[in-house]
Amino acid sequence: MRAIRRSRGRFALLYNGSMSVLLIFLDGVGLGPDDPATNPFARAATPTLRRVLGGPLVARGTIEQDGALLVPADATLGVPGLPQSATGQTALLCGLNAPAFAGRHVTAYPTKALRRLLERWSLFARLRAAGRRVALANAYSPEYFAAIADRRLKMAAVTYAAQAAGVPLRSLDDLRAGRAVFHDLTNARLRQWGYDLPDITPGEAGRRLVRIGADHALTFFEFFLTDLAAHGRTALTADAVVAMVDACLAGVLEEFDGALTVVVTSDHGNIEDDRSTAHTVNPVPTLAIGPGRDAFRSVRAITDIAPAVLSVLGETAEHVTRDMVEGPA
Ligand SMILES: [Zn+2]
Repeated sequence: MRAIRRSRGRFALLYNGSMSVLLIFLDGVGLGPDDPATNPFARAATPTLRRVLGGPLVARGTIEQDGALLVPADATLGVPGLPQSATGQTALLCGLNAPAFAGRHVTAYPTKALRRLLERWSLFARLRAAGRRVALANAYSPEYFAAIADRRLKMAAVTYAAQAAGVPLRSLDDLRAGRAVFHDLTNARLRQWGYDLPDITPGEAGRRLVRIGADHALTFFEFFLTDLAAHGRTALTADAVVAMVDACLAGVLEEFDGALTVVVTSDHGNIEDDRSTAHTVNPVPTLAIGPGRDAFRSVRAITDIAPAVLSVLGETAEHVTRDMVEGPA
């Protein structure tokens, strides 16, 4: 009931106390032209996206049909230069203009200033502070935990925000028990590294994400092969990765039930234009499917996504402003 009282506007009327959000974050996916010569989303096998959207996931403005809403979201946030991951993900997670705060688009790993923002204002932190159940569904390997402990590797924004909020990072034991999904969806990478883990399909990964989502207000999953493939840093082709995303979404929609709102979005463009391996200034998709999708109708930039998620969950949904960040805590 507290959640209902604290929410604002008409979404409070829709909130039934059991609404939950599965947010599938795809790194480096923008909305490009419907041109098979340059855009894997116009070319690769994406039967589920085409069915849900009545066509490919390309720049076609706002699309709404059969319970699905696609809204383009600006990722440049008025800051010159190409949008980058650390500031883009901080903007997405916190609902604040991280590149404006940082004075530039920050690549890869969050700076100290961005980490302070993530600690206080991320969806993970705000929902945990409100007593809500939150999951980061990704599984992490023992090598990852060791590299973090030895400071050979820094945490990227999503992982950093989750652990800073006390959201447990899931292990390979969780993965074995079906309570997590590896970043490549299928465990192929872990099997190459010699781990005895089942080879699961992207569809099964999607079904698993929905099952994790049933126990949590927010379930977040980070997929970054899209960005890696676009940068040419994985053996997988962009078309293969786009097809995996589509197959994962098929699994999500198979398992999907009425209380879950599925959101698929990104931090900046990249894979939708294979004429270059660099990020793009294209808007990114905000695809919302399920009962809370109306909250995403007013999304114009990636800073609008966190407030929309909070609104679906019946929590305070205001944007984080510079005054809130710099004023007395
Ligand atoms: Zn990124």
